[in-house]
Parts: sequence; structure tokens; C-alpha cells
Amino acid sequence: MPSATQEQDKTLPLFSHIYVESELLEPPWLSTVEKFRDRFTRATLVELEHYSQLTQRRSASWLDQKRSPKLILARKHGELVYPCSDVAPNFGHPNFFYAVPMQNCLYDCEYCYLQGMYTSAHMVYFVNQNEIIQRVQELARELGELYLCIAYDNDILALESLFGVARIWMEGLREESGVTVEIRTKSANFSALSDLEAPPNFILAWTLSPQPVVDRFEQKTPPLKARLKSMQQALEKGWRVRLCLDPLLPVKDWSRVYGELFQALDEAHIWEGLEDSCFGLFRMPKPYLRQARKARPESALLQEARSKEERGLYTLGGPEQHQLMEQVKNALEKRMERSRVWQT
Ligand code: SF4
Repeated sequence: MPSATQEQDKTLPLFSHIYVESELLEPPWLSTVEKFRDRFTRATLVELEHYSQLTQRRSASWLDQKRSPKLILARKHGELVYPCSDVAPNFGHPNFFYAVPMQNCLYDCEYCYLQGMYTSAHMVYFVNQNEIIQRVQELARELGELYLCIAYDNDILALESLFGVARIWMEGLREESGVTVEIRTKSANFSALSDLEAPPNFILAWTLSPQPVVDRFEQKTPPLKARLKSMQQALEKGWRVRLCLDPLLPVKDWSRVYGELFQALDEAHIWEGLEDSCFGLFRMPKPYLRQARKARPESALLQEARSKEERGLYTLGGPEQHQLMEQVKNALEKRMERSRVWQT
């Protein structure tokens, strides 16, 4: 368990309660529970049979949970690694999978698909990280090669000082040359990993947005400047780094706003060191959108997503977002080879 304390970083959540599945109150899991109890000394520990008792309570308000998330310690059973849908780009890897070492996120983006996917905003930490890693290793042996995302349903780097999930996965998989792992983040927290030698098969993928988009839609996330600095630090230390401009949002004066983002990226001199980049529009499957609107009834963005694109996903209407996408695509292709620019 990492050594940072909650007092050292005021942005980290102060969980008032830790819910623990009964199964985990016995060895071999008990020691992990005790570590969390020692870490969050002010939290009340509550036993529950299965984490779904709390995460699938229909009566609970998603926004209330988001404001005061509880920590749930659970063990993942059943299938531990899942195939990705073709809604996400596979970056040229045919065997594209994802795993969920943690469920839910510290940040609060208005467009987040997790609010449509999960009925609960509580943070779930799965104690059997190593069992999930073993399943990844088996699958890689069966398939010969595996591309895996472990931060689609969370932002593990944002919480690295508390949970150390990225570190566990790097220790478990850095020697597995058949496995490539992407860790996506909006954090400014590369420092939590900077003592490690860059694992050759891990890609840190930063999602960046212009500051007006951060201010309006990405509550609780670090400012653009801080993310960019973290990204630069990773590049300087020889890590594989991906740039994600996703979702692109046609805010007021979008052409100038995204032009200024590229100016900031140019000034940061990131292009040469980057692995690749991806960009895409805001999009959500209908059932998630329905659920997300319930979770955040005040959101104009979620209400306005009424156009169906070719994959059947819902997105914003109007010509601006396609013009924006063209502008960003051209700007990326001016700075990187086309083969390293992916559209999501
Ligand atoms: S950082 Fe990603 S996972 Fe977290 S709230 Fe924002 S969109 Fe959702």
C-alpha cells in the first residue's frame, strides 16, 4: 500500500464508510481489509454480503453518492477480463480487452459514460487484483497477443497514492511481452509512478481538453496545464504516452478554443515523443444516455445528445461538431504520421 496520507492531498476522497464483503473478513483477504482500515482511520467499517447490495439500490441518488462516495471492498467473481466493443478504437490490436480493477472515478465529468453504465457512484476496489492479472496472462497465452485497457471504468492514476493499482499491474505484467496495457487518465499524478522504470508494455494515455471545456464539463479534474506537465514528465522519463482528445465538444468559440489547445501542445514540445493520438466526438449508447439523464437531470449536454451516428450511438446534433472533428483531425495529422492518429 502506498505511503501517502489523506491529509497530504486534499483532493483525495475522505471516505466516511468502508463497506466490506463478508467473504473478505477471512484470510487471505483479511490483511488487505486491515490495510484499508488502517489507511482510512476515520471511516466506519460495515459488513455486507455482496457489493451489488449497495451499488444496485435503485432508490439511491447517483448525484448524492457522487458528492459523498463510499468505498466498497469486493472480490470480483466470474469473468474477470472482457472483450471491448467496436465503439472504442483498438489501436491496431485485434485482441482488444478491458479489465476493471476499480469501478468509478474520483472526477465528475458531465459527459461520463459511467453515470449511464452504473447505477451507483460509490467507489469499488476489487481486492483480487492478482487473480485478474493471472487471467490476463492466461488469455494472452491462449490468444498470442492481448491489448488491454484497465482504466475505462475508473481513473486509477488519480488515486494511485491511495490504492497503488497501476503499480500492482505494472509489477504483474511488465515482463509479459504479449500484453500491452493502456492506462487512461485525466490526472496530473505521474509523480506517483515516477520512481519506476518505464515498463515497455504500458501506455499512459492522457485525455486533454481545452481549459474552457475543463471548466465547464470536467469538474474536479486537474487543469489542462497540470495534466500537460504530468504528460511531459512521463515523456522525459521515457514512458510510452498517448494523447487523447476525446470527447471533442463544440463549446462557444470552439475553433479558437481548440486552436489554443494545439498552441499549448506545440509549446510543450510533446509531438516527437508521443506514441500516438486519438480523437472523437461525445457519444453514448441509448440505454446509458437514458440512465445518465436520470443521474444528472440538469445537464443540457446530455439532453441535447439526440442525433444518432452510424454506429447507433447518440451524439450532439448540428454541423459544428463535425467541423470541429475535421479541424482537430487536420491539426493532428499535420503534427504526426496519419498511421498514428486514431479516430474513435
Ligand atoms: S475522468 Fe473519465 S471516468 Fe472519470 S469522471 Fe471523467 S469521464 Fe468519467
